[in-house]
Amino acid sequence: MSNIQPGFSTLAVHAGAQPDPATGARATPIYQTTSFVFEDVDQAAALFGLQAFGNIYTRITNPTTAVLEGRVAALEGGTAALAVASGHAAQLGVFHTLLTPGDEFIASNKLYGGSINQFNHSFKSFGWNVVWADPDDIATFERALSPKTKAIFIESLANPGGVVTDIAAIAAIARKAGIPLIVDNTMATPYLCKPIEHGADIVVHSLTKFMGGHGNSMGGIIVDGGTFDWSKSGRYPMLSEPRPEYQGLTIHETFGNFGFAIACRVLGLRDLGAAISPFNSFLILTGIETLPLRMEKHCANALAVARYLQDHKAVAWVRYAGLEGDACHALQQKYMPKGAGAVFTFGLKGGYEAGVNLVGNVEMLSHVANIGDTRSLIIHPASTTHRQLSDQQKTAAGAGPDVVRLSIGIEDAVDIIADLEQALSRVG
Ligand SMILES: *Cc1c(COP(=O)(O)O)cnc(C)c1O
Repeated sequence: MSNIQPGFSTLAVHAGAQPDPATGARATPIYQTTSFVFEDVDQAAALFGLQAFGNIYTRITNPTTAVLEGRVAALEGGTAALAVASGHAAQLGVFHTLLTPGDEFIASNKLYGGSINQFNHSFKSFGWNVVWADPDDIATFERALSPKTKAIFIESLANPGGVVTDIAAIAAIARKAGIPLIVDNTMATPYLCKPIEHGADIVVHSLTKFMGGHGNSMGGIIVDGGTFDWSKSGRYPMLSEPRPEYQGLTIHETFGNFGFAIACRVLGLRDLGAAISPFNSFLILTGIETLPLRMEKHCANALAVARYLQDHKAVAWVRYAGLEGDACHALQQKYMPKGAGAVFTFGLKGGYEAGVNLVGNVEMLSHVANIGDTRSLIIHPASTTHRQLSDQQKTAAGAGPDVVRLSIGIEDAVDIIADLEQALSRVG
């Protein structure tokens, strides 16, 4: 493998990992330890002063988690990564490094519902002010810019599913404004789309979903694209100003194109504390080894189910970017030609009642508030995740009374369709 860049599937299995130096173990061991013995007093001092890389305490670094970080950085084409306890912790870590109270950031209004909550509520209480823009009308991003804007946040493949964002067009707006573009790549995964190649500066993931892929562990990650000049404008002081607790060291100057990941770790994770468990890192790493195989099957199954639903007499509409007639099909062909992912929505002619009946009648599909499991999942947002909203707000959020959301698993497509068929025959 000497000079040639290994392919994606090879990286998914090998990147970041070596046989365990202590034991020769081939699988990455779970380093279930909180602390690491220093070699001597000088090494301890060097580690605490950021003059040497090494392990001190699992809140900051852990050898199992380091393999996960190396692997995801390689898959995304970034310079470095920082794994944390959840996708939301990753978003918190990114904005903690970029913003000071009173700052603004622009976010797409087509995001995972939990992110909309995080930005509207907890972030506002930190004095970090979100300004919403509409990815269906790119000019709204430009109009939302102000002297206080420090970043733009979008999803590559967005909730409620089937919406592909024009990453390069929004990256051009960010570049012109001298601010970084952050892309949540959870639903697409780097197998389908690599946002850094399209102009993203930072990528975040909920590893909880397709990356781990088995519905068994929470995790999140921040990937540093290594593309942004943090010192140029002086508007990102955590990166460009001397740090008193590290003997006046300046993070961007010292660590260069992986300075953002370092700042998120040695300032953000150090103080915010949302560390991932080494056991979760191990499970997610194991999941990533089969990411290409799973995503292929997820996408093929989702397309088969979308086509089946499109022809069903109880179904009013299907929104899946993989369908030829979909409004996002051209963007899907550009940004994720291998597939449109596994999460999408459809509408039932029978409205709210039919939606509730459908989730009540499925047998193999699981009625849960999650996506990205090996198992096929179903939810009726209007009666669950979005029930606190008014009818008008529900419709604006893509969660109208008739909407059902699916996350298609890796079972046999005929069995997923058979379950939907028997349940749809009973919705009335
Ligand atoms: C689930 C999800 C998140 C939040 O991740 P957690 O791991 O649940 O904290 C963020 N973005 C997207 C697109 C998600 O699906």
